[in-house]
Amino acid sequence: MAEQALKPEQLLQIDYRPPQKDWRDPKVEFRKGVFCYSALAKNLEYLGLPNPRKWQPFDQDWKLPPNWKEIILEGMRERLEKYRSFRLFMDICVRCGACADKCHFYLGSGDPKNMPVLRAELIRSVYRRYFTPAGRLFPGLAGARELTVDVLKEWFYYFYQCTECRRCSVFCPYGIDTAEVTMIGRELLTLVGCNINWVLEPVANCYRTGNHLGVQPHGFKDSIEFAVDELAEITGVRVEAPIMKKGAEVLFVVPSADYFGTPHYYSLLGYLMILHEIGLNYTFSAFVSEGGNFGLFTSHEMIKRLNAKMYAEAKRLKVKWILGAECGHMWRVLHQYMDTMNGPADFLEVPTSPVTGTRFEHARSTKMIHVCEFTADLIHHGKLKLDPSRNDHWNVTFHDSCNPSRAMGLLEEPRFILRSVCNQFHDMPENTIREQTFCCGSGSGLGTDENLEMRLRGGFPRANAVKHVRGKHGVNLLACICAIDKAVLPPLLEYWVPGVDVAGVHELVGNALVMKGEKERSTDLRGTPLKVKEAAAHA
Ligand code: SF4
Ligand code: SF4
Repeated sequence: MAEQALKPEQLLQIDYRPPQKDWRDPKVEFRKGVFCYSALAKNLEYLGLPNPRKWQPFDQDWKLPPNWKEIILEGMRERLEKYRSFRLFMDICVRCGACADKCHFYLGSGDPKNMPVLRAELIRSVYRRYFTPAGRLFPGLAGARELTVDVLKEWFYYFYQCTECRRCSVFCPYGIDTAEVTMIGRELLTLVGCNINWVLEPVANCYRTGNHLGVQPHGFKDSIEFAVDELAEITGVRVEAPIMKKGAEVLFVVPSADYFGTPHYYSLLGYLMILHEIGLNYTFSAFVSEGGNFGLFTSHEMIKRLNAKMYAEAKRLKVKWILGAECGHMWRVLHQYMDTMNGPADFLEVPTSPVTGTRFEHARSTKMIHVCEFTADLIHHGKLKLDPSRNDHWNVTFHDSCNPSRAMGLLEEPRFILRSVCNQFHDMPENTIREQTFCCGSGSGLGTDENLEMRLRGGFPRANAVKHVRGKHGVNLLACICAIDKAVLPPLLEYWVPGVDVAGVHELVGNALVMKGEKERSTDLRGTPLKVKEAAAHA
């Protein structure tokens, strides 16, 4: 792909001048590198979604149903009635522009339709034309547009260039959440069979086997057993990792990448070590072999379908509460939808650490807490023996993954953990972290290869902040707590900031954790020689 060969300095030639053409002109060019391929018909069929067929976004004819326009408008009408937020977001934007330069895709591309205000305007203009008197009577004056095939294509183009990260909403004085507008936009597109494969294939896999990768229960079991064996080799300690253990106190849910990809896998090792060390009575489940939920990028109905397994399995196994691992969208779903969509989970108890006695009151509705909350509490109470010098080969910064930070406010716990397990930690500039964190540029199901140019553009503001702390403090590791981040940040940093690695927070906890009965450790969980050992060897 020619675009992939672009050097960073070429990609940085961003033209921020407004284009000559009227913003209402919907024509877009589906050129390689900036869009995602369509979902395969077999995946739509499997999920019972409408209009399965062979097509691609660059085709002239998208093979839409003959009544596609009625379907979309009826879908809009239904959602305007059902979601008050959607109607509000359609009505109250005053076009103040406070959000305009807050989107990483706008900053990285200079395309004004990637400004959150204009992205939402793509659908708002259609809303005005069909659902407001002013738009019906004076479309030109009201900024209203007819719904045409070109407008539909424009929606597809721009709603799949939004990672639903919600950074823009932090700056909007009215609290307009453009991610929610994108979600409705994608939902409407799904009604006429326009979706992307990088989202729908994981959804179909998840629906079939419980995880995005399509790993079957015996594969899940093999992966966990492999991790246990490897951990025994590294530490000399054989941990237990129960699967489907009825009557365990806690159900532990991880994203599938944790047992299948790196660097995610090293965090899985870290969890296994901690849970063994404190003797938690927990269980995995091969039926809940995925915490992530790509339904979030498809439709509200799909979120609910994929999430249902968590409470169902917690009930079947008769656990007391649920612990969730490092993941992004899992936490958005959990925090904002799970208890009302599939709850109330009255059969569960408010999560309480059996080790410290801490009762996590904020989770009394969901009955589920984040592993960072759990670990931070253990460290705070001095329940883990830690040797931060085992991470001395890392000079660490932290990327607040959009969903755990903005969607659930998990800001201090990961930093507290990192400062406890690493001797060298430096935050990136304030306006690029915590609630204002910059997205990785590949979230919401956009982390595929065919749109790499757009991912590199969208990820540029994040990478630029990493570059700042690399230059100032010599940072060589970006820690994060999201499975998508762990997959997409390595190529992003390799492009913009070579020399910076990516790790999960619990990989670093695992490095530092001194286990009872462990053998002398000479490497970290990746097999990299420890700095102190290296120094001793050369002495
Ligand atoms: S949600 Fe994120 S990606 Fe979408 S418009 Fe807002 S800032 Fe951009
Ligand atoms: S900040 Fe809010 S009100 Fe202002 S343009 Fe953006 S979405 Fe509209």
